[in-house]
Amino acid sequence: NGKSFLVDLTRCTACRGCQIACKQWKKLPAEKTTNWGSYQNPKDLSSETIRLVRFSEVVDEGTLRWLFFPEQCRHCLEAPCSTVPENPKAILHDKETGAVVYTELTAKEDGESIRMACPYDIPRVDPKTKVVNKCDMCIDRVRAGKLPACVQACPTGTMNFGDREDMLKLGEERLAAAKKKFPKAMLVDPEETRVIYLAGVPPENYYEYLEADASDVMPDSLTRKQFLAKLGKPIR
Ligand code: SF4
Ligand code: SF4
Ligand code: SF4
Repeated sequence: NGKSFLVDLTRCTACRGCQIACKQWKKLPAEKTTNWGSYQNPKDLSSETIRLVRFSEVVDEGTLRWLFFPEQCRHCLEAPCSTVPENPKAILHDKETGAVVYTELTAKEDGESIRMACPYDIPRVDPKTKVVNKCDMCIDRVRAGKLPACVQACPTGTMNFGDREDMLKLGEERLAAAKKKFPKAMLVDPEETRVIYLAGVPPENYYEYLEADASDVMPDSLTRKQFLAKLGKPIR
């Protein structure tokens, strides 16, 4: 059954502790950032920023909301990205945890096609080495019986990690609690992913790729289409 995350977005304060912990554990360098009119920094995921707290401001039924979305790979149960490489060893699916792990062999594959196959737009190609990078569930820590670095660092109870069954149960409990304040609260793609977000308002308010959505289907990406078909969502 493997592991899963339950990410309760109704609790996130955008402290970015998780983003920094990820950088530290993965020994990824800080990026040069510019002021682009948002507290979100850097502006996007990259091969050096595999976890990013996204910020958005929306008006939801007359209420101005400032929403925070700590983004990472969802570790899909059937990962569309893993069907792209010609070498099956380029992307591994860990049996015990369910983690989807990219290796350096991704450098020999078509990195942009791997990215296009992802319904959540997660993978990023390193411009120098051509290795494709993303979150690996901190598989080294998890195998050693520790929590992923981002979960360990989160002070608000937003980030939770454990056996999949336990996280699904926690998700239902948190959802019931959240609905009192956020009547439209929902769990996002819980049957398909191992990183299950609890969204207080409809997911598109946080970020266009929070939920797998047919409107972003690339015309030549069969794998993404297949994934969406499986979700029972319309393909345009
Ligand atoms: Fe692959 Fe994207 Fe799913 Fe992560 S979220 S396992 S990168 S398809
Ligand atoms: Fe980063 Fe590890 Fe969290 Fe993935 S599980 S986002 S690699 S800290
Ligand atoms: Fe949100 Fe927790 Fe990350 Fe802080 S550490 S930004 S509260 S998920």
